[in-house]
Amino acid sequence: MLRASHDPADDLRRTLARLRQLLDVAEPPAPPPSEAELSLLYAAVDELRRRGSTDRTCPRCGGALWLEERGAAYRVWCLQESTALLTVRGL
Ligand SMILES: [Zn+2]
Repeated sequence: MLRASHDPADDLRRTLARLRQLLDVAEPPAPPPSEAELSLLYAAVDELRRRGSTDRTCPRCGGALWLEERGAAYRVWCLQESTALLTVRGL
């Protein structure tokens, strides 16, 4: 039985590795939060504003949440991902 000089799966693996590199460079923006994520984030905002802390964590990765307040606007950040999960303007 003839054997190929190289495993065609290696070509596929190389192609996939290259694709992953390209995707890393141009990472798509995070999708908007789902309804369940939104209700968790609003609950976290409520706790952060009232007590200054919350036990709730990022619904996507479990990272700590941080509230950035700017006048009437605020933004909830996931510290783990350095991503703004929710931005609300004008209370
Ligand atoms: Zn996160």
